Amino acid sequence: MSAPVAEGVEAANPVERFDRTPATSVRQHPERASYDRAVVHAILDESLFCQVGFAVDGKPFVIPCIHARIGSTLYLHGGLASRLMQVVASGAEICVSATIVDGLVLARSWFAHSFNYRSVVVFGTGRIVIDLVEKARALRAVVEHVAPGRSREARPPSPKEMAATAVVAIEITSGSAKVRRGLPRDADSDYELPVWAGELPLQLTPLPPVSDPRMPAGLDLPDSVRDYRRPGQA
Ligand SMILES: Cc1cc2nc3c(=O)[nH]c(=O)nc-3n(C[C@H](O)[C@H](O)[C@H](O)COP(=O)(O)OP(=O)(O)OC[C@H]3O[C@@H](n4cnc5c(N)ncnc54)[C@H](O)[C@@H]3O)c2cc1C
Repeated sequence: MSAPVAEGVEAANPVERFDRTPATSVRQHPERASYDRAVVHAILDESLFCQVGFAVDGKPFVIPCIHARIGSTLYLHGGLASRLMQVVASGAEICVSATIVDGLVLARSWFAHSFNYRSVVVFGTGRIVIDLVEKARALRAVVEHVAPGRSREARPPSPKEMAATAVVAIEITSGSAKVRRGLPRDADSDYELPVWAGELPLQLTPLPPVSDPRMPAGLDLPDSVRDYRRPGQA
């Protein structure tokens, strides 16, 4: 289990925190909430992918997508024709959520079962990335987000591939994190029950790599594969 994020940790400096708004204030278990930008950013960085929410003509959509963060900007990439890219590029307000499940919280009662998790919900407005330097930087960040070190090992995009890829940016304007850690919180009257209770920690861990047989012979595993782990994981 990774990032040193405690329940309710807040940055001392207000400029490092998101302003709380009615839309972003955690209401259930507010003691688990954090509006600290560093906490929100760390969860976004460790999360392999995110869920992007938006509305079109009042109809809600939530689409899974790879993201990468540079500062307070989230970058997404995709096909030029995808609805997701078009909506984000239009400057619409976007909601992005990402979650890391750290463990199953197995309680004495069904009711008290839970997850240990770190999750974020952030809001921002989108724009299309036209500038080729920013676009290349964003695509490198996306590759690095998925597999740290991989951008140095694989071929960068050709001009044709760059032209075929849309990159959009979402400036994060508000957001929150919510973090649960620890053991079950059962009702006092349940602690004597003969039921195993505790946490079953979970982590995103790679299994043995599968090599593509079309590679030239004699290639060793690259660092990005041999040493793969999510940012923040020991
Ligand atoms: C973990 C993960 C990461 C991804 N990362 C990216 C990324 O970085 N860039 C990217 O372009 N695409 C990514 N995808 C694929 C992405 O979710 C969409 O499928 C993609 O954007 C294509 O959308 P579209 O334009 O075809 O459809 P859209 O017009 O966006 O969607 C049309 C409809 O198709 C259905 N649909 C679309 N996507 C999915 C889906 N994933 N699962 C089930 N139903 C779906 C929905 O009903 C949706 O309303 C990712 C998918 C996953 C699961």
